[in-house]
Amino acid sequence: MNIYGHIKVAIQILDSMLSKNKCDVSKNRIVEGLRDTWGLLHKYCKNIHPDRTNEINDRLNNLEPEDFLITKDMLRDATTVLNRIKDERINVKEFMYSYFRILDVLLIFHKPYEDGCNLCQSDLFYYFDTLEKVIIRECETCGTQFNIGSEERLTSRTYSNLRPATRKEIIMHVSNFEEVSDII
Ligand SMILES: [Zn+2]
Repeated sequence: MNIYGHIKVAIQILDSMLSKNKCDVSKNRIVEGLRDTWGLLHKYCKNIHPDRTNEINDRLNNLEPEDFLITKDMLRDATTVLNRIKDERINVKEFMYSYFRILDVLLIFHKPYEDGCNLCQSDLFYYFDTLEKVIIRECETCGTQFNIGSEERLTSRTYSNLRPATRKEIIMHVSNFEEVSDII
């Protein structure tokens, strides 16, 4: 199968993972689906985004469903990205960009419809700084970092030892989100 064939299969996997009856969506099924698509696409991703490929590789290989959480809004966010690409003629670069975005919006906690960067309005993803032991929100577009729970921008120091915040950390520090369950 060539790249277009692989992309088509990946889109089918993502589609059945996301847009079937929402009651069937579970974290385990999402992890499984993302790993399946990654198996088809990572060799192409390597040429287009070598840095991100290693990062995603690590993330997917080490991912334990109990370590992260998915909210209904995150699912909606990923479905919007998928719907934009699924009926269009495949453009490899654009597809890869959207595919990486789907991986990010499903695997890194954020509040897509209520939380945004006050400089550029993009989504803020939640990370944990492993050195300073704090959770911060980072803008996906301009990279500005914010505290959680306030609009305060972090100007005095930059956190750089970041990994996506885990489910436990999110539950301890963030409220008002609707989580997708692990079991079907
Ligand atoms: Zn921004």
